[in-house]
Amino acid sequence: MSTRAQTHTAVVEAREWLAPHLVRLTLGGPGLAGFASTGIPDEWVGLIVPGQFQSRYYTVRSWDGHRIVLDVVVHDEGLVTEWAARDCVGDEVTITDAKGSFALPEGSTWLLLVGDLTALPAMARIAEAHPGLQVRIWAEVPDELPGYLPGDAEVTWLAPPGDGASDLATVVEKIEWPDGKGYFWMAGESAQMRAIRKHLMRDRGLPSTAYEVMGYWRGAQKRQPRAVDPGPVWRAGKAAGLTDEQIWERYDASQEEDR
Ligand SMILES: Cc1cc2nc3c(=O)[nH]c(=O)nc-3n(C[C@H](O)[C@H](O)[C@H](O)COP(=O)(O)OP(=O)(O)OC[C@H]3O[C@@H](n4cnc5c(N)ncnc54)[C@H](O)[C@@H]3O)c2cc1C
Repeated sequence: MSTRAQTHTAVVEAREWLAPHLVRLTLGGPGLAGFASTGIPDEWVGLIVPGQFQSRYYTVRSWDGHRIVLDVVVHDEGLVTEWAARDCVGDEVTITDAKGSFALPEGSTWLLLVGDLTALPAMARIAEAHPGLQVRIWAEVPDELPGYLPGDAEVTWLAPPGDGASDLATVVEKIEWPDGKGYFWMAGESAQMRAIRKHLMRDRGLPSTAYEVMGYWRGAQKRQPRAVDPGPVWRAGKAAGLTDEQIWERYDASQEEDR
């Protein structure tokens, strides 16, 4: 079975700053005619910007059948960062097919979402897709974005402690889990996500179907030589009958091997 993702050409039609570290890009053009959303609310695409061959992964914030919206975090440095920080309207980019991994257990009444700024687009889309559920969100972001998350979600904005550090592990440990059935979704720096998975599994004794914890980026390293596409790892894992938990562990391990 081929694990190579199909690619599509798109043109940056609009670019808008949502906050000092977050820029919204609207991609369109005839090359997106063959693009299909999975409908899974944390779906992502690989993005290859002009003059590059490496891709970086971005959540599909929205897809209206013609245009894809991506909300891109601008870091201190980085391949996509440097491109998105300047005027890129009119540029041609390549994106891969969308993949998603969010899987809400049947009968869920609540959702807990935790993440940093890179996870905010997925948390917004997940919350928007589940208006009937009780949704609690913890967002560790440099700039608060009132109005970015749906109004019926209970949101706690947290400032990052500084120096690229994160307090999200402590936040997760202190969460009072709601009664009944629900789902925990989280994304952020990979090493921290591994520690949080262990906490959920060992300390809270959660089954792997009750949560999704994804490593979105790697700290402790300057520009990354090659990002590992989660799509093939995901498809190969599913084909091999692995659980989501096992697949993300494998994805994190493949990123470690790549250092
Ligand atoms: C499934 C998935 C969905 C994602 N969705 C989004 C999204 O919607 N929006 C978004 O902005 N990102 C998203 N990410 C994260 C994004 O792919 C990474 O942050 C990526 O490394 C950014 O690329 P870059 O070229 O700007 O920086 P790189 O060239 O990859 O990295 C340059 C430097 O920046 C540091 N760095 C990278 N990311 C961060 C960070 N988050 N915080 C602090 N330092 C960082 C690196 O450690 C490195 O030192 C997603 C990742 C995955 C796997």
